[in-house]
Order: sequence, then structure tokens, then C-alpha cells
Amino acid sequence: MTTETPSEESRSRLLRQKGPSEGRPAPEASLFEEVVNLCKRRGFVFPSSEIYGGMRSTYDWGPLGALLLQNVRKAWWRAMVQERDDVVPIEAAVLTNPKVWAASGHLATFTDPLVDCRKCKERWRADQIGDTCPNCGSKDLTEARPFNLMFKTFVGPVEEEASVAYLRPETAQGMFVNFLNVLQSTRKRPPFGIAQIGRSFRNEITPGNFVFRTREFEQMEMEFFVPPAEADSWFEYWCQQRHAWYERYGIPSSWLRLRPHEQEELSHYSVRTSDIEFLFPWGWGELEGIANRTDYDLRVHSEASGVRLEYFDQASGEHYLPYAIEPAGGVTRAAMAFLLSAIDEDEVAGEKRSVLRLHPLIAPYQVAVLPLSKKETLTPLARKVLGELQRTFTCDYDETQAIGRRYRRQDEIGTPYCVTIDFDSLEDDQVTVRERDTTAQVRLPISGLVDHLSAELQASGGAF
Ligand code: ATP
Repeated sequence: MTTETPSEESRSRLLRQKGPSEGRPAPEASLFEEVVNLCKRRGFVFPSSEIYGGMRSTYDWGPLGALLLQNVRKAWWRAMVQERDDVVPIEAAVLTNPKVWAASGHLATFTDPLVDCRKCKERWRADQIGDTCPNCGSKDLTEARPFNLMFKTFVGPVEEEASVAYLRPETAQGMFVNFLNVLQSTRKRPPFGIAQIGRSFRNEITPGNFVFRTREFEQMEMEFFVPPAEADSWFEYWCQQRHAWYERYGIPSSWLRLRPHEQEELSHYSVRTSDIEFLFPWGWGELEGIANRTDYDLRVHSEASGVRLEYFDQASGEHYLPYAIEPAGGVTRAAMAFLLSAIDEDEVAGEKRSVLRLHPLIAPYQVAVLPLSKKETLTPLARKVLGELQRTFTCDYDETQAIGRRYRRQDEIGTPYCVTIDFDSLEDDQVTVRERDTTAQVRLPISGLVDHLSAELQASGGAF
């Protein structure tokens, strides 16, 4: 078995540079390139329809990316649904009656200000560029005009005004229009929440920065309905909870901040919003917004539909419209922030290694099973161990190349544990478990492996 403990000197250098979450220096611009390259090389993210030249700012998530996204969703679900008894989930349709968007205000006001550069014809969001075209430097820009971000489509075979529908630009409206259905079918009462993860679509004027801003993306949103008098304290509560979630799953605290919106920044439905921002290599950017949407949505849908979306409080004998506190985050943006926070390099046994220090429950694979050699004698036992582990963990299996090379491959994709089966294993029913960050190895009986790894993962952040 190779010994590959990082030198003391290397470990301490690593900790000084990147390890602790407090006071980590700002990310360098090169980190962005590193993550984009890793994503393509190891199959996290591919340009969409690449064999046809791709499509601008559209991406497909590859094998490791699909596992990563699934783990981000699971981590959110764990915190927002599984670990609570006051939040229930739904999955609403992407296409809805267009009256939803008329009533919610999205048809009239879900716009960004658009300007054209008269010289190079590029289009920009006026609020992002000042008075100069970032492409050619010209100051000859058109007046800003509102551009609605909703994608339009036609339902059925006839392309006419009456068959227009919109792809949802947020999942939130699914929670508001189902408010009564959920209330009546679950017997929940305020304060309670409705949570949803799903795709949203926005015809962004300037998508970019890799998967940070795309036209199709995934949101994880929750509407927490509360008595109006409790709205402020719940708002504070959710800001704190959501901030803690990003830290819990590995974002350094010095790369996170909570930024309250200025009055003029607020969306049409919000009286108070704070963004959880991440220090991207290009500066601070939003990961999630927490908004006090008041009773705006329930009120406009009650008025437009004629159905009273109220709660009847038996204790006081009052009907009232609850306020909605909304933590709204992006699955894809969070995944990018986790990757940027995790990518690292250190030195092991005199050689540089790339290591992705993802939280064990966010990493694509929790365990890699590696028979020491491809010899047929080891394969049956290795496969048996793999089968046992797969019932509980997401596992990779790799039997080609030297063991050191295979460890490096797993380090680079963030696998927290490697289980190696060697020739002694055939005699003593023991295997070697190697930990990613320290490269420390322990020898354990196969019978205790699932319990050992489960305990390690539980200790790192809850059920999985
Ligand atoms: P931005 O100011 O970056 O356009 P927003 O304030 O419009 O975002 P929200 O409407 O609050 O975003 O949406 C909630 C979350 O959905 C965002 O915090 C982000 O994580 C995600 N999100 C929104 N738009 C996009 C997009 N175009 N691509 C990827 N994720 C997005």
C-alpha cells in the first residue's frame, strides 16, 4: 500500500492559504478558469449541444454535475423539508394559465432595462453597464426600454394570441396559486411553508459567467406563510437560517455576506429583501434572496381569481391573508459556489495534487471502491464490498491504473473516502479506508465499513 501522507509543512501551508473559513483571502481571477476547466475535463458541465457548435450560455450537466446538483437539492431538501414539520413540498407545472402572470404582475413588470449599442449592435442591461458599451467602448447607446424576461410559447397547434402561455420565471407562483389546496389537504396553519425545487426560465439579456446566469436554471424556493405581525421576526429568522446553510455545506464565512436591498432595488412584490451574496472571482454576486412579499401575491390572486386565498383563524374568528417570507435560491448558482469554495491544491509526498474539498454530502461520490490491482482474484471481493456500500452511498468503482493515480483522480473530483481492497483483504476480511483531505489511512473490517462511513458522514452534517 502506498503511503502518501502530506508533509507537515505542506499541510500547514494549505491551512494558511485556504483551509479555515474565517478570513480566507478573496478568490483570485484564475480560480474561475480552474473551475471551468475542471468542469469540462471531469464531466461536471458541458456546453449544450456542443457537437452543433453549442448554444450561447446554455449548459448540460454531465455525470458528475448531475450527481452534484442532486446533492445540492438533497441538502436543501434536508434543511427545508425533511428536518422540519412546518414545511411541505409541492411540484407545480412549468406551464400555467397565463392569468397567473397577469395577476402576479410579471406580465407588466418582470422586465429589465435594455439598451442597444448603435455601433456594434450588442445588447445590454442598462443597469449593469453605465454609459459605455463594454464590447466596443462606444457611448452611442439607445434609450433604455423595458424588456420582459418571460419566455412565450403557444399551447396546442395554433399559434395565436389566445394560445399564448409562458414558461415560469420563478417557481414561487406555484405555491401561491396552490395555497388553499395545500391548506385544506394538509391542515397546516400559519406559520407554515410550501417548498419547491424546479426549473425556471428567464430570457436574460446578458447571460454569462458560466452557469451563474443562464436562461434555463433551477430554483429552490420556499414560501413561509405567517401572521402579518410576525413577518419581521420570521424574515430575520430565515436570513439567519439560509446563511448558516451555505456555511454548513462548505462555503467559507468570509466569502459570504448578507446584503439588504436599497428601497429602489426592491422587486414589485417586496417590502424588504436581503441577498445572500458570495464572493465570486469577479466580485460579490447573489446566491439567494430572502424577501418579505407581504400578502401581495395572495391578495392579487384572490382579486383576479375571485377565490379568497385566506386563512381562517378559529381562535380569533378572523379571516386574514398571511404574509409570505420567501427564501429563493438557485441550485445551479449554489453548485458553482460550492465548486469555487472547494477547489484546491496541495503537495503530497513531494508531488502536487489537485483536490476538491467538497463537503462529503455535496461531493458527487461519497465513496470510491478501488481493488489494488485488476487481478481476477480481487474482483469478486471488491464487487461484493461495492454492492454493500451502494445500498447506502453513491459510489464509484475504478480498477485501472496505479493506486496512487486513482487516488488523485478521486481527490480531483472530491470523493471523501476511498476503500481499497488488497491481497491481505482476501485473508483478513479487512480493507483500507483513505480520507481525502488528510490522506490518512485506516484498516477496518469489511463488516464494520458501512457503519464506520455512515458515522463519519453523519458527523459531517446530518442524515443523507
Ligand atoms: P439576479 O439579480 O442575479 O438577476 P434575481 O434577484 O432576479 O437574480 P431571484 O428572482 O431572487 O433572482 O431568484 C432567486 C434565485 O434564483 C437567485 O438568487 C439565483 O440563485 C437564481 N437565479 C435567478 N436568475 C438566475 C439565472 N438567470 N441563472 C441562474 N440562476 C438564477
